[in-house]
Amino acid sequence: MATGTLTIDLAALQSNWAALNAMSATETAAVVKADGYGLGSGRVAKALAAAGVRQFFVAVTEEAAPLRAALGPGPVINVFSGHMDGDTQMIADLNLIPMLNSPEQISRHKTALPGHAYGLQIDTGMNRLGIEAYDWSPEMAAEATLVMSHLACADAPDHPANDAQLKTFLSMTAGLRCPRSLAATGGTLLGPDYHFDLTRPGIGLYGGLPFEAAQSVATVDLPVIQTRTLQAGESAGYGCAFVAEKETKIATVSAGYADGLIRAMSGKATLYAGDTPVPLAGRVSMDLLTVDITALDHVPDTLQILGPHQTVDQLADAAGTIGYEILTSLGPRYKRVTK
Ligand SMILES: *Cc1c(COP(=O)(O)O)cnc(C)c1O
Repeated sequence: MATGTLTIDLAALQSNWAALNAMSATETAAVVKADGYGLGSGRVAKALAAAGVRQFFVAVTEEAAPLRAALGPGPVINVFSGHMDGDTQMIADLNLIPMLNSPEQISRHKTALPGHAYGLQIDTGMNRLGIEAYDWSPEMAAEATLVMSHLACADAPDHPANDAQLKTFLSMTAGLRCPRSLAATGGTLLGPDYHFDLTRPGIGLYGGLPFEAAQSVATVDLPVIQTRTLQAGESAGYGCAFVAEKETKIATVSAGYADGLIRAMSGKATLYAGDTPVPLAGRVSMDLLTVDITALDHVPDTLQILGPHQTVDQLADAAGTIGYEILTSLGPRYKRVTK
């Protein structure tokens, strides 16, 4: 039996893409790295292609194999990490477009695959990936399909780095004829100055911040395996971290930190039985959670930890992290279903 059920609402995913697409006058791609932010890149990409997406981005070439299998030959698949040693065969076979990040990658690509399409990633101040200003000359982009860069602080609209990176991007790409891209989800929300020819949202498609209007895409329901009643003074779980102050009903549910319900949620996260919140009691185990269901007058079959009552970001807050990390940590043990 799977630990829990991860339900992926493909209609919500499609409508999140359509809402982000409607915010710009330009083409909207979709980022499906890390297995579609943990939800399954093949099914996610197929639904997005049906909604109108023609360009996809992954982090590394290996991620493109299941994607190409799901999408067929038509859609463009771009690779953020560019052309690394050992990537040549896959770039050729799967017809991928690497976003080349350095003069070394440019020469590797042109030597290994003369005439094969490529884009360029330039560094405008994040200092993570991309060709540095001192290595850059606009002639490098003469045959590029795309010149892109990435914003470090787009989730903080007032951060001065946004404007600084925009100015650097404008000056490095002035006069270029090829398409340009600067915005992920956060940059798309910053407004038209940041949109250029292509936006590349990821997290907003999957229901995460900074896209506040996003619909919830992932629901996680966990089966109740067993219940018991604790008397005042009895404890539950590792470290006796939860101690009952009065008679308390505990439900033990199937899923734990091996399913991305990270240990930092211990004693902090809330689950839901229908509309009723029920608190996590004590520590998260590898495969199990103990939940205080005293407030319920029945024993439910399942408790929900992710869904309309609790977004990925609310759950992330309880664990001191961000929605991105919750989604991409969910792991393989869930039964994944779509609706
Ligand atoms: C992950 C990533 C994106 C998508 O970012 P979101 O914040 O998830 O929208 C876009 N561009 C690059 C370069 C990325 O690494």
